[in-house]
Amino acid sequence: MRIAVLSGGIGGARFVSGLRDAVAGHPDAELSVIANTADDIWLFGLRVCPDLDTVMYTLGGGIDEERGWGRSDETWHAREELAAYGVEPSWFGLGDRDLATHLVRTQMLGAGFPLSDVTAALCERWGLGVRLLPMTDDRVETHVVIDDATQADGRRAVHFQEYWVRLKAPPAHAVIPVGAKDAKPAPGVAEAIADADLIVVAPSNPVVSIGTILAVPGMTDAMRTSSAVVVGVSPIIYGAPVRGMADRLLPTIGVEVTAQGVAEHYGARSDGGLLDGWLVDESDAAAAEPLNGLGITTRAVPLYMSTPHLSRRLAADVLDLADGLRRG
Ligand code: GDP
Ligand code: CA
Repeated sequence: MRIAVLSGGIGGARFVSGLRDAVAGHPDAELSVIANTADDIWLFGLRVCPDLDTVMYTLGGGIDEERGWGRSDETWHAREELAAYGVEPSWFGLGDRDLATHLVRTQMLGAGFPLSDVTAALCERWGLGVRLLPMTDDRVETHVVIDDATQADGRRAVHFQEYWVRLKAPPAHAVIPVGAKDAKPAPGVAEAIADADLIVVAPSNPVVSIGTILAVPGMTDAMRTSSAVVVGVSPIIYGAPVRGMADRLLPTIGVEVTAQGVAEHYGARSDGGLLDGWLVDESDAAAAEPLNGLGITTRAVPLYMSTPHLSRRLAADVLDLADGLRRG
């Protein structure tokens, strides 16, 4: 069975980790992870790809479990030295071990390799057991429009990382995936979607992770025309994101911060949308009836991935729902 997963950082990485465990007994299972790259940023001359790295470190066993991002056993000497020089930005945490990843990536990009090749080379070290693909080799960067009284029109657009990490996600007027219109899916991405038996929309940020992947021209059509069953997992549990701030930008795009709101935003496949099936948390079981009515087959299961065992169980629930949809 071929499975393609659309993923952001922490929510997607934990889910894929559980999925890899869940299919471990199936020698013919092939996992492809299509990761968001619109969070990527140049810092200190280095190309940093937060979501690719979160997936790579999580699956490779190199993640800092507590933080959910960056390397385990990390030190911060380079950051201290940069601060001593007074070099900005000081708000983005680049650990010493993590820096090595960005150095290798930047060196390879400079030598002319596309991001997809660079990612494959980095992943070789970690032996992920899945194929990790950037959504695109082209530069796409999410910018967020916020209030700024010092500007003539009272607004300013900032890079997503500044919005998220430095400003801690204040109310926003718009989210713009700059460059997306001219981007192409990276090599292997369209094929992974077309050839999949199952496509999973991971419990990742619907706006700045999944939304930006789908903003790459051709992605939405590829999803719609694929013969795969498409199952999504809600990143919202009982009206809140369990980790991170996935609730912050939903109101900006007019989506209610509920498991039902996110599913309606993705839409039913039978109605021109993306989803055949959707998993909500047990606490959101009431969403099942209205969503079933819209043509999105919805089940309520435990969605909180607090342990590898629970991530694996959630992945098994996805496989189970997909199985039923395929036979149904
Ligand atoms: P980021 O790129 O690191 O922000 O990660 P993602 O794009 O994957 O999205 C983060 C979001 O994933 C969080 O804000 C949550 O909404 C969701 N998430 C994180 N952990 C869990 C979990 O255990 N269960 C579910 N259902 N969603 C989660
Ligand atoms: Ca991210």
